[in-house]
This record gives sequence, C-alpha cells and structure tokens, in this order.
Amino acid sequence: MAARKPQVEMPRQDPKNRIKNFDEVAIGYDEQMALEEASRCLNCPNPQCKKGCPVEVPIPEFIKLVKEKKFGEAAQKIKEKNALPAVCGRVCPQENQCQKFCVLGIRGNPIAIGRLERYASDWERNNSKIEEQTIPYTGGKVAVVGSGPGGLTVAADLAKRGHKVTIFESLHIAGGVLMYGIPQFRLPKEIVQAEVQYVQTLGVELRVDSTIGLLTTIDELLGLEGYDAVFIGSGAGLPNFMLIPGENLKGVYSANEFLIRTNLMKAYKFPEYDTPIRVGKNVGVIGAGNVAMDAARCALRLGADRSYIIYRRGRDEMPARHEEIENAEEEGVELHLLNNPSRFIGNARGFLERVECVQQKLSEPDRSGRRSPMPIPGSEYTIDIDTAVIAIGQSPNPIIQQTTPGLKTTRHGTIVVNEETMATDIPGVYAGGDVVSGAATVISAMGAGKLAAKSIHEYIMAKKTRNKPSA
Ligand code: FAD
Ligand code: SF4
Repeated sequence: MAARKPQVEMPRQDPKNRIKNFDEVAIGYDEQMALEEASRCLNCPNPQCKKGCPVEVPIPEFIKLVKEKKFGEAAQKIKEKNALPAVCGRVCPQENQCQKFCVLGIRGNPIAIGRLERYASDWERNNSKIEEQTIPYTGGKVAVVGSGPGGLTVAADLAKRGHKVTIFESLHIAGGVLMYGIPQFRLPKEIVQAEVQYVQTLGVELRVDSTIGLLTTIDELLGLEGYDAVFIGSGAGLPNFMLIPGENLKGVYSANEFLIRTNLMKAYKFPEYDTPIRVGKNVGVIGAGNVAMDAARCALRLGADRSYIIYRRGRDEMPARHEEIENAEEEGVELHLLNNPSRFIGNARGFLERVECVQQKLSEPDRSGRRSPMPIPGSEYTIDIDTAVIAIGQSPNPIIQQTTPGLKTTRHGTIVVNEETMATDIPGVYAGGDVVSGAATVISAMGAGKLAAKSIHEYIMAKKTRNKPSA
C-alpha cells in the first residue's frame, strides 16, 4: 500500500522576527496547501471526526467543498453549525477534539481540520460580502448576557430560528475573551469583529456598555422588559490569586489585567493608544495554561529580556495547547517546571525583586490518574524577577449571582444548570459557557450555547402555544 501523505505544515512567522511584533504567528494555508491537505481526507461514510466536534460541524461535507474549490460554500456549510469558524479554526484545541477522532490519526497524521476551517472562512471573509438576512419572526424575545463565544452562539442560533435577540455586553466591544484575553498574534481582533458582525447580520441587536446586575436585573429583563427568556453567558472573568506573601507588591499583575491592558487597551501600540504597561527585564508567569503562555509571549514582545513560566507540575501536566507551548519555547520562553512560588520579595519602595520557589516532586497517579505536586523540604531558592503575572485560573464575576434571587450556584461561584437543557432553576433562565463550567474552552462554551438555544426555542414555542387564545 502506498504511504499516506503527511499533514501539510502551517507556515509561521520566524521566531526571531515574530517576537518583535504582534502580527499573527500562523500565516495560514494558501490555496495550493488547502487543496493538498483536503485531498488527504477519505470522506469516510461513517466519519469519526464529527463525534469530536461539540457543535457538530459537518466536517467531511465542508472538506469535500474545499476539494472542489468551492471555498465560499465550504464556509457556509461550516456556518450551518458554527457562527465563529475563523475563530475556531485558530484557537480550538482540535488535537483533542475532531482531529483526535479522525481515522488518519491512528497513524499520527489526522486531517488538519482546523487549518482547513480557517482557510475556508478567511476566503469567504476576503472574497464575499456578508448579506443581511431576513428570517420570519416567531414573536419570541430573548436577552443574552455576555458576548463571548457562548453568548454569540446562543444569539446566532436563536436568531436563525426566528427569535428577536438582544445581547447585553458590559465592555465597550463584543467578543468576550476573544477580544480582551487572547492576543492579536494568535487571534487578530479584526477577525473576531467580522464574526460578531456576521451574528448581527442575522438580526441580533448588540448593546455594549450594558452590565446586567447594574443597569437592570435578570428579573427586570423577564418582567418589565418583556423578554421570554434570558441566557447568562457572563464567563469567568474574575482572576484567582495565590494568596501568598508579597502578592500586592508593585509589579505583580493578574493575567486578566496584564492581557486586557495589552490586547483590549492595545498597550503594545503605546503611545498611539494611551495605555501604559510596565514590563520589567525578567518576567515570571505563574501557571501553565493557555492564559499563562499568552502572558509569557506578550511579555517578550513588550520588551522583556527573559520570560519564565513557573509551574508546580511537569511538562506532561501543562494544560496549554501543545502547539502554543512549542511556539512559546521557540520564542525563548523558559520553563521552570516542578516549582511552586511561596512568596514574592520586594525592595524598600514596594517593588517586586524576586520570587521564592519551592521545588516539587509528583506523587504517584491517584484514582483519576492525576499526579499531585509535593514540596521537597529545604529546596527553597529565589529567581530574580521584576514583573510577575498570576495566571492560575479565573472564576465567574459574582454580580449576576448576587442580584438574581433563586439562582443556584456552586461554592466556586459557577451557576448550576440541568446539563441536558442548560436551564437553571428559574423558569426562562438558562446559562452556559465558563460561568457554568468554570474556565474552559471556546468550543465548549459554544457547545453549551447550542444546547441552550435549542432548549430556549422549545421553551418559547411551548409558551406561545399555551398562551394562544383558543378558537
Ligand atoms: P467569555 O468569553 O468570558 O465572555 C463573557 C462576556 O460576558 C464578556 O465579554 C464579559 O465582559 C461579559 N459579561 C460578564 N458579566 C456581564 C454582565 N453582568 N453583564 C453583561 N456582560 C457581562 N480557549 C480555547 O478554546 N483556546 C484557546 O487558545 C484559549 N486561549 C485562552 C487565552 C486566554 C488569555 C483566556 C483568558 C482564555 C482562553 N481560552 C481559550 C478560554 C476561552 O476563551 C473561554 O473558555 C471562552 O471565551 C468562554 O466563553 P464564554 O462565552 O463563556 O465567556
Ligand atoms: Fe476526513 Fe478524517 Fe473525517 Fe474521515 S475522519 S472524513 S479522513 S477528517
């Protein structure tokens, strides 16, 4: 049997150049590369790849359209299920989802589904105009709180079903973490805004600078304001801290503040944008997820000489995407693994100078297979850093939970829902995304949004049938 062709590599900016700019690292396939990669797909009659996609993108069908050079139609096929294909093609962990199930992956060479998704959606954005769509109105009215991937998905799916949807977003711009967290060099903001605009062409109204819980409450949306249902997709934007000595020294940031200043407020374009950011010579980022990698890579681009990841477990346990760890190391980010910070040390003026770490070893795997870090007594040492970024996770902002009587929450502040319908205990109130799961992924928030949209549609249609005057 002839050997199968390998995956077509993604061209990327040279690490020496890219650490001097915020342009996209992955350059994207050209037409020839997309056709070559698509040609490897077997169009399996029983496609396993689909099983790995939380929003059920018709993968073989769109890849077939790419093979036929029908790139715009391929993008439309993806959009039947996924309103944010150019975003997902860039940041979804496909290696743990659709690509993990692709039959060609058995020999380590799955189809690069995300790269093809990106190619088709970029082609459509660059070559065709998004038309306003007119969809027959059902009479249903839905409020969506938050414009991250979860909120945008609910809004798009409900608008396609004919409901009038309004998104309330507390920031001045829509997109959630896609805008304020993930850096430009991984996800250009023009691309996020083009996908937000697509959702608006479905008839969705967007109200920015509108914080639910301050401006109006969930009860008022359902009562006075006449919405039939509300979806809460307010994410997990509250940073977690380590609660160790010295965390309030000058030079210690939460990853949220560091990334919001850099990305949303464009500190990397200072003074063109009036957002200062202080990045010293040696930056220590605590944590090893995608957020930590983003912060460490931003620090180098903002002028740091050295950027360290300080993490209490080992390489195999790092939660960030493998591809992003590789990118970070290529750019010069140094990994200090099996190290746990125990205190930050400052100078007499209250500025950070060092972090004290305790070396760790891992326990044997527990019943769930997880290995816990254990301190090695007497192994304390210090690393010179003048900036620290704490990236050890985020929790939901409590404002909605505190202003919505009867909304059930866990001790972590996440909202409790029925996982099959995404309904909360309050009739007409649904929730999904990071505010339910805790900090997770773009596609899991979108999957929850799809499920919620289906339930909200059924809820509204049943309500309308009940309220219809009998003949
Ligand atoms: P969010 O994206 O957090 O959006 C919630 C929105 O609600 C925000 O815009 C917020 O302003 C708004 N809001 C909050 N409260 C209110 C209120 N009271 N009223 C009105 N609006 C409100 N995932 C991946 O799959 N791949 C990655 O590579 C990846 N990288 C990441 C990098 C960083 C730096 C971060 C922080 C996260 C990353 N993630 C990644 C995780 C992913 O972005 C999130 O899981 C996802 O965005 C969650 O979507 P969401 O819709 O639930 O919430
Ligand atoms: Fe193509 Fe792989 Fe899906 Fe088969 S499993 S249809 S080869 S992407």
